[in-house]
Amino acid sequence: MKIETKCIQSGYTPKNGEPRVLPIYQSTTWKYSSTEQMGRLFDLEESGYFYTRLANPTNDAVAAKIADLEGGVAGMLTSSGQAACFYSIFNICQAGDHFVCSSTVYGGTFNLFGVTMKKMGIEVTFVDPNASEEELSAAFKDNTKAMFGETIANPALVVLDIEKWAKVAHAHQVPLIIDNTFATPINCRPFEWGADIVVHSTTKYMDGHATSVGGAIIDSGNFDWEASGKFPCLTTPDASYHGITYTQKFGKAAYITKATAQVMRDLGSIPSPQNAFLLNLGLETLALRVRQHCKNAMAVAEFLSHHEKISWVNYCSLPGDKYYDLAQKYLPNGSCGVISFGVKGGRSAAVTFMDSLKLAAIVTHVADARTSVLHPASHTHRQLNDEELKAAGVTPDLIRFSVGIEDQEDIIEDIRQALEKI
Ligand SMILES: *Cc1c(COP(=O)(O)O)cnc(C)c1O
Repeated sequence: MKIETKCIQSGYTPKNGEPRVLPIYQSTTWKYSSTEQMGRLFDLEESGYFYTRLANPTNDAVAAKIADLEGGVAGMLTSSGQAACFYSIFNICQAGDHFVCSSTVYGGTFNLFGVTMKKMGIEVTFVDPNASEEELSAAFKDNTKAMFGETIANPALVVLDIEKWAKVAHAHQVPLIIDNTFATPINCRPFEWGADIVVHSTTKYMDGHATSVGGAIIDSGNFDWEASGKFPCLTTPDASYHGITYTQKFGKAAYITKATAQVMRDLGSIPSPQNAFLLNLGLETLALRVRQHCKNAMAVAEFLSHHEKISWVNYCSLPGDKYYDLAQKYLPNGSCGVISFGVKGGRSAAVTFMDSLKLAAIVTHVADARTSVLHPASHTHRQLNDEELKAAGVTPDLIRFSVGIEDQEDIIEDIRQALEKI
């Protein structure tokens, strides 16, 4: 099936007489008539539902749809993108281990990896996403267990050279984990470029309507944990699961089964079935919406790049952008709806522009149907002075603009009238 068809059809196929639309199984628990059968479920000897923290039919159907969109073997939903990023690493790293991460990842991920996981004894080295193979290799240590990066970094809009990163990761026998939130599988499927695990904040384009915080982890099934020899957590018996060895019992789904059966069982960041249902509604129109976001963002980026009151524009699909060539390779059909740009006149001009917008709403969220805008110097980074902002890579004039799916002329007209107020 083509990706547009998968958005609608994958994950849930009703049998004769069953509801056509994915039902919300808002039940914590399932009933069985024999003690023995329930025991077999607990031993993972038989598959079946018994408790929603471990598995729920609504959540599973939506995870299966996302796995199909990405071209993976299986997936798992989490209650947030943060939980997905955390679990993706914690599933294969423990205290004393180390991993390598792009320095331009989302701020929440940067903090999770650099501060919170450090307290758990898991160490990260942040590297320049544009570093050469040699420089990337130099960040590896004997205890390095993974590499992590974002297809299109939020909000830096850096496009990752996934193929290069996968080559380096595999030369060191570790998997490459890619956060594909901004690109979505409509525009890029990282497994096709050698990535092994994909994570998402489904809160953004996948949900698309700003209703449900959520995340997902998808396993390509391609990484050979046994050949690597670096992952006894997957290749030797798990005492917490009656001595199951994940690679022997679950083969290509070893990583995702462990993430579900062990990490989720113990940490419990599941989405509610209601939220999974809402996410599924968003997924049904993902291909249509992403295309409209990209078309509108391109028109906005072109308009801004020719406007006399704009000093610079970052949008990787715009010819001349620093990441244009990488975007043409990995995102030939479009990148995302998020643009950043600077207005002439610095912080105060940026504030005047923001306050003059009528259609674009000031919100912290990005990547949903409504056009929205954020001025990091006044919002997410407001405690920093101009010098500190520069060090953080956020200039006082920087505006992050998330182009929605309204009519492109209405969006551009709103920007035009707000720029006139400066
Ligand atoms: C928003 C975001 C996250 C965090 O996801 P939440 O759903 O907000 O927890 C992680 N990675 C990227 C790229 C994001 O944009």
